[in-house]
Amino acid sequence: MSENAIEITDLDKTYKADGKKTAAKRALKSVSLNISRGSIFGLLGPNGAGKSTIINILAGLVVKSSGSVKIWDIDIDQDPRGVKAAIGIVPQELAFDVFFTPAQSLELMAGLYGVPKGQRRTMELLKMVGLEDKADAYTRSLSGGMKRRLMVAKAMVHNPPILVLDEPTAGVDVELRRQLWDNVRALNARGVTIVLTTHYLEEAEALCDEIAIINHGEVIAHAPTEDLLARIENKEIRFRLDRPMENAGQVLQGFAAEPVGQRSVIVRYNPSETQVGAMIEAIQRAGYGIVDISTDESDLEDVFLQLTGSSGN
Ligand code: ADP
Ligand code: MG
Repeated sequence: MSENAIEITDLDKTYKADGKKTAAKRALKSVSLNISRGSIFGLLGPNGAGKSTIINILAGLVVKSSGSVKIWDIDIDQDPRGVKAAIGIVPQELAFDVFFTPAQSLELMAGLYGVPKGQRRTMELLKMVGLEDKADAYTRSLSGGMKRRLMVAKAMVHNPPILVLDEPTAGVDVELRRQLWDNVRALNARGVTIVLTTHYLEEAEALCDEIAIINHGEVIAHAPTEDLLARIENKEIRFRLDRPMENAGQVLQGFAAEPVGQRSVIVRYNPSETQVGAMIEAIQRAGYGIVDISTDESDLEDVFLQLTGSSGN
């Protein structure tokens, strides 16, 4: 048994040209990724990067051009049905059956997956996503967030070991985002491997053990979240001084220093190369008193900018 939940090797996808309307598009360029069992894995990248293409290949909705994919040790070419049993997918687009209640939707989905009546977990799943009191409501009366949670429950009817969520919180408000994060964490605590795509850096940072960053169909970074954060070159430190610093460039020679406001100076530095102590010494040597020091916690936005040279949104 592999320690990986998903193994993607040299995956390539070119969408064919659609008559005269759209040109052929190479959406994935030799993507290789291993996703550990038990992890919360984030696939991060701007719109159009190729995230949904990867997810839809895993889901069997898009046919790859070349490369191989194994899900829970099952090759998608050799045993597509076996793969479907191992994975639950929450697609990016909300699709819901307005004519059914949430309980009926789950029963139907379980039927599609061939789950015998006695083994269905409809109420347990509704409870898991906080919809137990909506079991018999009209689905069309549910809020957007409730519908999203119903989709998560639907993806879990066959109790797969892997749950994949494509942009689960795109366009949802902060409170709902936190609810979904709690759902995801609870599932992961029960042993479910989670793969999610997002273009929100904050989301990947808050939830994921491991992150791969994809841009223009290529994986440009893949590391534990903490390591990615540690890679950040630019940290900022702000010194508030007892009087205005006129010659910051000279005082802090060799540092990227910039005076701001009346009595502050900001220095951008790389923690792996520069010691804050050396800055403090230089300031004090020039006869300035330091009133206060503050730093700006770096986040994935910085990593993203460095790796792609473009904005995350
Ligand atoms: P993401 O989910 O990261 O936003 P997608 O995987 O949806 O990115 O898209 C990757 C690229 O492939 C984009 O340039 C997109 O326009 C293109 N693409 C996606 N789906 C299709 C399709 N069905 N036909 C043609 N091009 C597509
Ligand atoms: Mg997408």
